[in-house]
Amino acid sequence: MRAAALALLFTWPLAAAPAKPNLLLITLDTTRADRLGCYGDERAKTPTLDALAARGALFAQAHAHVPLTLPSHATILTGRLPPSLKLRVNGVALNASVPTLATHLAARGYATRAVVGAVILDREFGLSRGFDVYDDRIRGDERRADAVTAVALDVAKDLEPLYFLWVHYYDPHFPYVAAKSYDGEIAFMDSAIAELLRGLRARGLLDQTLIVVAGDHGESLSRHGEKQHGVFLYEETMHVPLIMSWPEHIRAGSKVNALCGLADVASTILDLLGEGALPESDGMSLRPLLDGKKLPSRALYIESYHGAYTYGWAPMRGVMDDRWKYIDAPRPELYMWRISEDTNLVSERRDALRVARGELQRFPAQSSQPPRVSAEAQKRLMSLGYLSASGMMQASALDPKDVIGIEDDLVRAKEARDVRSGMRILKDVLARNPGNIPAWSMLGIAYMTTGDYDAARSCFERETRLRPEMSGSHVNLGTAWKKLGKNDRAMEEYRTALVLSPREADAAVILARMYRDRGASADARRALETTLATGDDTADVEFELGLLDLEAQNWDGARAAFTKAMVLDPSRDDASVNLGKIAWKLGRADEAIAAYSRASRIAPRNAAYLATLGSLYLNGKNDLRQALELYQQALRADPNGAEAANLRELIARLEAQTKKY
Ligand SMILES: [Zn+2]
Repeated sequence: MRAAALALLFTWPLAAAPAKPNLLLITLDTTRADRLGCYGDERAKTPTLDALAARGALFAQAHAHVPLTLPSHATILTGRLPPSLKLRVNGVALNASVPTLATHLAARGYATRAVVGAVILDREFGLSRGFDVYDDRIRGDERRADAVTAVALDVAKDLEPLYFLWVHYYDPHFPYVAAKSYDGEIAFMDSAIAELLRGLRARGLLDQTLIVVAGDHGESLSRHGEKQHGVFLYEETMHVPLIMSWPEHIRAGSKVNALCGLADVASTILDLLGEGALPESDGMSLRPLLDGKKLPSRALYIESYHGAYTYGWAPMRGVMDDRWKYIDAPRPELYMWRISEDTNLVSERRDALRVARGELQRFPAQSSQPPRVSAEAQKRLMSLGYLSASGMMQASALDPKDVIGIEDDLVRAKEARDVRSGMRILKDVLARNPGNIPAWSMLGIAYMTTGDYDAARSCFERETRLRPEMSGSHVNLGTAWKKLGKNDRAMEEYRTALVLSPREADAAVILARMYRDRGASADARRALETTLATGDDTADVEFELGLLDLEAQNWDGARAAFTKAMVLDPSRDDASVNLGKIAWKLGRADEAIAAYSRASRIAPRNAAYLATLGSLYLNGKNDLRQALELYQQALRADPNGAEAANLRELIARLEAQTKKY
């Protein structure tokens, strides 16, 4: 035995192949290349990214193909362009059959883990496929860079080579949560990346590791009239950082000036790792550029359907090469992009325009909406008359250049001091741009607050017709119908919302309540279980389940449900009160007192809780003094309430009795 072990020990090093490198992919959301020190911004506070670039290679002219988070990340992870993925806007899931860096490397024995900083990359959109661990547990919409780093280091706690770790930082995306300004957020993110690298290095996880840093798109910062990003295809949002570092394999301080795109990232990574290639790719390996060689010059495809999809504007598509950028729009644009995107050369340079238009033909335009919903959901929408065919796009004549200010109008409407002036702005927007989905939604919500439910219903109907597959608009429409007293129609909309998105917990809860009111408790339970089946759970869902169990006198079930509601949301005094009622029913006075005490701690001014607690001490414990004290507190909390007279009487009686002792 011993000899065998020794033999193994001696032969092992000889048999071992050279260690394969790990892959650390860091993506920087909304980070403009020209706001990093290594890209020439002297005021930038980005020492970590600058040092990575100094130790490795900086791609000076890397470009996104689409200025939107999810499609751009999908391109980074698959090497494929939005048209070939049919993933062109946020909120669409990646087709489950598309291989990704994660599925490819997982199949080759890599431990694969990911941490993302925003719900826009939630696992439901499919980028999680191939990752053993995909941490998207985010409260609210985003998490700060320091939290992302902390989670990443936690996720890497038991990590061993060979691994692929992807970490996504969202901070530079508006709003600026951690720092006060755009540049401040970038600096904050840089320091969090420093922390990440320190932590990984301390665990020996950065030896033999290819580090790739890529931006998903930039930020307009009001250039060309665009505040953020998503609609236009100018350099502010398309030029992104791309840095690769792997000491002894990538020459320190390399600078690649050739034009390249994020679709090239996956091919380049796999080439450097020596791990083959993805079966289909729209990009190419940039490795020859790192070796000082040249690549054939080519045109990069760029597009955005965000304006088309959200506002009903014309889509923007284009191509760019080393010299020209062509953008196809109602008013086409041609720029010498390295020099200026203020001078449109469309009429002066017919030759270049012709070539660019020929190039663009290679990439299919989108004629129909991407299938965002399941076949079941599509069938339902068809049966309700929402989808005539399969969501044909309405050709729009609105050139985004002419109407980009509408994005500001929507912000002004949202921030308007009073509802009426907000509504005026929205009506003005809709007169010019009747396909603007957020405007219909916001106007509907405004009408709801003014109590004009029929006008609200009409707005939500317009919204629903424009985007029938969006569950939220059905919830809104359902709520308007409910306010109008049309419960059948309301329930129809809530049911549709649930078919479209079983995670629409609010719809499930309202629907369950409406079923319960009709005595249809089995249907109510089914609605709630639809949501639970997705793995999501909310305090509201559990509370409703608890009420159904109470009705059925299933005390154990009700107790379990209300307890879960308390765990999910410790501020739910109503759940605690129901636990108290059940305990009292079961003759457990101490438990009832504990539950009511908890409710009372959550809502200390609630007179009813204090009064009930008093009665529990009186009837359950025969504790007259405690009961008296609690009745007095209850009276002080609500001296003019409906129970005040009763309380005074009880207090007087108890005072008389306690004096006897
Ligand atoms: Zn993004």
